[in-house]
Amino acid sequence: MRLAIFNAIFIFCCCAWRVLALPDTIFIGGIFDAHDERQELAFRYAVEKINADRKILPRSTLRAQIEKLPADDSFHASKRVCKLLRNGVAAIFGPQSENTANHVQSICDAKEVPHIETRWDYKVTGDVYSVNLYPHPPALSQAYRDILMQLQWKNFVILYDSNDGLVRLQSLLQEKAFSITIRQLNSDGDYRPLLKSIKRSGETCILLDVAQETIFTVLKQAAQIGLMTDYYNYFITSLDFNLIDIEDFRYSSTNITSIQLISPKDAQVQQFVDSWVNGELRHGRSLPLHLRHITTEAALMYDAVHVFAKALDDLDSSSDIEINNELFCESDQTWKHGNSLINYMKWYSSRPYGVGPRPSSPYANMSRYPYYDRLDGLTGLIKFNTEGFRSDFQLDILEVDVKEGLKKVGTWTQVGGANYTRSWAEAVETVETNLHNKTLRVSIALTSPYAMLKENPERLKGNDRYEGFCIDLIDEIAKIRGFNYTFHEVGDKNYGSKDRTTGEWNGIIRELLDHKADLGIVDFTITYEREEAVDFSMPFMNLGISIIYKKAQKKPPNLFSFTSPFSGDVWIYMATAYLGVSVLLFILARMVPEEWDNPYPCIEEPEELENSFTLLNCLWFIIGTFLCQGGDIAPKAVSTRIVAGIWWFFTLIMISSYTANLAAFLTVERMDSPIESAEDLAKQTKIKYGCKKDGSTYSFFRDSNIPTYQRMWAAMSNARPSVFTESNEAGVERVSKSNGMYAFLMESSTIEYVVERKCDLTQIGGLLDSKSYGIALPPGSPYTGPISSAILKLKEDGELHILKTRWWKERKGGGRCVTEESKDAANSAELGIQNVGGVFVVMVAGSVAAIFVACCEFMWKARKLATEEGASFGDELRKELLFIVNCSESSKPVRKKSSPAETDSSSIYDESSSTYG
Ligand code: GLU
Repeated sequence: MRLAIFNAIFIFCCCAWRVLALPDTIFIGGIFDAHDERQELAFRYAVEKINADRKILPRSTLRAQIEKLPADDSFHASKRVCKLLRNGVAAIFGPQSENTANHVQSICDAKEVPHIETRWDYKVTGDVYSVNLYPHPPALSQAYRDILMQLQWKNFVILYDSNDGLVRLQSLLQEKAFSITIRQLNSDGDYRPLLKSIKRSGETCILLDVAQETIFTVLKQAAQIGLMTDYYNYFITSLDFNLIDIEDFRYSSTNITSIQLISPKDAQVQQFVDSWVNGELRHGRSLPLHLRHITTEAALMYDAVHVFAKALDDLDSSSDIEINNELFCESDQTWKHGNSLINYMKWYSSRPYGVGPRPSSPYANMSRYPYYDRLDGLTGLIKFNTEGFRSDFQLDILEVDVKEGLKKVGTWTQVGGANYTRSWAEAVETVETNLHNKTLRVSIALTSPYAMLKENPERLKGNDRYEGFCIDLIDEIAKIRGFNYTFHEVGDKNYGSKDRTTGEWNGIIRELLDHKADLGIVDFTITYEREEAVDFSMPFMNLGISIIYKKAQKKPPNLFSFTSPFSGDVWIYMATAYLGVSVLLFILARMVPEEWDNPYPCIEEPEELENSFTLLNCLWFIIGTFLCQGGDIAPKAVSTRIVAGIWWFFTLIMISSYTANLAAFLTVERMDSPIESAEDLAKQTKIKYGCKKDGSTYSFFRDSNIPTYQRMWAAMSNARPSVFTESNEAGVERVSKSNGMYAFLMESSTIEYVVERKCDLTQIGGLLDSKSYGIALPPGSPYTGPISSAILKLKEDGELHILKTRWWKERKGGGRCVTEESKDAANSAELGIQNVGGVFVVMVAGSVAAIFVACCEFMWKARKLATEEGASFGDELRKELLFIVNCSESSKPVRKKSSPAETDSSSIYDESSSTYG
């Protein structure tokens, strides 16, 4: 009995389930634009696929009801929707065109039938009965913004064709970090004039937001006018850029970035593509060629049908859904399950997935949380926000690569932003590959020793005509990076300066900006203003501004240079000290008894005492000790010894100082220069000074805030005739010829080169600033990194040092002044008669004085003897002279005085002193 009741209940339940469950055939409607075969095909494929594998809606079969419409025909659209509703469809998919879609939408809203869209729609608020699988435009705009930020775009042009484009890019346009120019493509298909004007404007980054079928034409025309070179960057907003034939652009080294929603490498996508292309689901009928590629919208349609089917399947297991009720547009009848179905679709996709244990797990039944699968389609995770717009989607970031064509380099997600998966090394490798075997145009200006013409350049061709430090440097870099190069001289011979009024650049910088050159090399100073306009490599040389001027004249040698160690004052003080100490010794010696001696020691008790320190003896003693010769007499008393000791100490110090200083004075050349520094130049007006016109030195003084340099700038800019020169060579020439009346402000590296060769010139003072030379490249050049790292390598390997030595010290007359200087140095080590002649003069003068004094004494003695002996002065003089010239006589008889009464102390002295030998 109990079993019978149980069976009855089971049969009743089964019958009830049969009544309330989904019908065997579920109709779904698709409205497609007449020309859009691909959408229709995707829709049919999705239906066939679901019906074929029976995993979703296993007990029902989906039946596609398709209506085709001319685009924008809203009248017919309404009629077709009503027709579908009459047939009892459970949902309507499409159409793609905006006007018809809005009509379909409003009818679906009224009839409460889910409307599933896969088109770009800028609406901010969604409709109740609608979900849209196409990524929501604000989210896409955020993706563009994030990627452009990563690409470090700051200024760019947006090229768009329809006004929808501007709506699409609205949030990008509001971003303050970007400076954006907007240009609309005309409709006649010739975009060249517009592209040319972009080229002229110097913009290098272009965001292309145009219809899929226009992308190729725009890129092709851009290539024709030279907008597809290494220096241009494109960002293409189309989600189907992978369908464009990029073969023509792949080798241009242009940076082309795009995004995609479907990843062709994804297994599910590949499987779908295979079955699509092989016509597997079309019972072996293969697809016509033009339909073989899968567009994003087609993939979205495929996903849309799957999302609907999955939601219906899930909802069916939890509630009773009744379909197949015919709805008439004219009546106010609605489908009662439409609301639950569309809400379930929105909720279903946004619920957290993977919460409970997997259904295959043994714990599946024990958990109170169900396990939810991710709802993944061909277009990735499918998730709607409450408005029914697609959220949390993921985009692949693509770049055109020489080797691989279109290559995935990163991903974008709403939460994580743009993430490049490509490593730095890979990015560098890509650029290096692009550079390999490329021929770069190198702009140079002729300046020694950086870039010079070889002797007889007319006999040579191309790069062979040039030589110099920069020429060798480029050659070394090219060897490392494997590129070729051609040199050309810049037309206006300028390095690059900005016109203050027009803001236009000239010289090498102009060529780089116009992409007429790929590299600019010369003694190119890296300045803030230039760095704003172009890119610079790592510096290859460091320097600063200094002054080149005529070498100081040597002072003519001074005959009395031996007096130089002491100043005139010191000599006077010394003479005074000498006299003072002599007199002091004389007085002290007279005062102290120890200095009074017995003149004849054999007389024991003398009647007279004698003092050796007469004034003359004192003077003699003091000078003798001063000249380190000692004296015959020696002090005996303590006081006189103290005086002598102190004098000797004084002598010791003075003589040592004199000797030390004398050596320095006689060997070191004294130079006589009117200027020693920039301050000296600024202070005076006699010597003119200038620099190379429009160079970095010129800008340094023009823009300086330092008072000294401001004064110098005022003096330079007001000077007439002009003190500025066209080149450094002209400046150096002017210094050479000016005879010390012109100084030239130039960079130390070039000064170093000049003073090695022009021995009459020299650097004055230190450096006024500190800066470097670098290789200039067009703004945004991809080759800045590889060139910089090659320079670093050359620096580390010592190659740059070798190059500098070669061009500064060896070639083109290098080292000449060093040889002359060393000769001079050798010469200056010897002292010439000019240096020590004064000592001879003093000696001769002393000898002459001695002769004069001796003559005076001789005549005085002769006159005295003549008086004493009553002889004539002449006879006496002759007698004495005869005796002197008779050199064989070495003894002289004593001349006796005529009477003792006449004897005086002097005659006693005379007798004793007149006996020699
Ligand atoms: N190196 C300088 C420049 O790049 C030129 C020479 C100078 O101004 O002293 O402009």
